[in-house]
Amino acid sequence: MSLAQLPPLRESLEAHGLLAKKSFGQHFLLDLNITRKIARLAGVGAGDLVIEVGPGPGGLTRALLETGAEVIAVEKDERFAPLLDELAVAAGGRLTVRLADALEVDEAALAAGRPAHVVSNLPYNVGTPLLIKWLTGPFTPATLTLMFQKEVAQRIVARPGASAYGRLAVLAQATCEAALVMEAPARAFTPPPKVDSAVVRLTPRPDRPPGPLLDALQTLTQAAFGQRRKMLRSGLKPVGGEALCAAAGIDPSRRAETLTVAEFLALAAALRPVR
Ligand code: SAM
Repeated sequence: MSLAQLPPLRESLEAHGLLAKKSFGQHFLLDLNITRKIARLAGVGAGDLVIEVGPGPGGLTRALLETGAEVIAVEKDERFAPLLDELAVAAGGRLTVRLADALEVDEAALAAGRPAHVVSNLPYNVGTPLLIKWLTGPFTPATLTLMFQKEVAQRIVARPGASAYGRLAVLAQATCEAALVMEAPARAFTPPPKVDSAVVRLTPRPDRPPGPLLDALQTLTQAAFGQRRKMLRSGLKPVGGEALCAAAGIDPSRRAETLTVAEFLALAAALRPVR
C-alpha cells in the first residue's frame, strides 16, 4: 500500500480501537488539508530530514512524508506503534518511529550529523519545556515549525511593551527569528481542546548566543519577569541590581517588559563576569 492508498485517519483510528488520552495531551488533526498546510509552512521536501514529536495517528506525518522528506517520529504513547508501522511500510523506508519521551531523546544522535527540521503539533503539557530544550540545548534544529496553544504562540513572538512579552519571547528571539504563521481553531482538532492553537515558525540565528550566555539570559529573565512590574534595580537585586544595570548601560528605573532582546543580551553578558 502506498501513502495515497492509506485509509482516512478516522478509519485507521477506529480499526486500531484508539481513543485520545488526555494525559498525553492528545488532540488530533485528522483533516489532511490542515496537516498539508503545516507541512508546506515547514518548507521541507525531498532530501530533508524531519524530526516529528508526537505523530499520534500520523496525520501530520503523512503530510510530511508526502513532501518527499524523511521523517523520524518520536512518540511516547506505545498504542500508536502498529498504526505508525503501517505508515512506515507505506512510506517505503522514509519513516522511522522511536517510542520514547521527546524530553529525553538526544536529537543530535537521532539525526546522526544531518541537519534536521523539527515539526510538531505539540502536546500542550510539554510544549514549552520542549521548545526551551531546542532553543538552548546542544542540538540546534535547522528550523522549527510548531503548533502551540495560541496563547503560548503569542508569548513566543511578543514584542517589548506587549503584555505577552516575557521570558519565552526573549529566549526565542535571542536565538531565532520567530513568526506566528497560522492559526487553527479548537474545532480543527479531535477531540477539540478548550483553546485555539497557532503555528510558530522559528529559524535559528546564525549568531545564536553561546550556551553560557543563554544560561545567564535564563537566570536574568527569570529574575526580571518574576517581578515584571518592579523597576530593574529591585527586580534584578538577586543578580546584581544597579551595578549590573550600570555595567550593561541600562537605566535601572526601567521595567523588564520595556527592554529589547538586545538589551537583555547586554545584561546577560554583564552578568556572566558578575556571577
Ligand atoms: N501529531 C498528531 C496530530 O497532529 O494529530 C498528534 C498530536 S497530539 C497534540 C500530541 C502527540 O504527542 C500525541 O500523539 C501524544 O501521545 C504525543 N506525546 C505526548 N507527550 C509526549 C512526549 N513527552 N514525547 C513524545 N510524544 C509525546
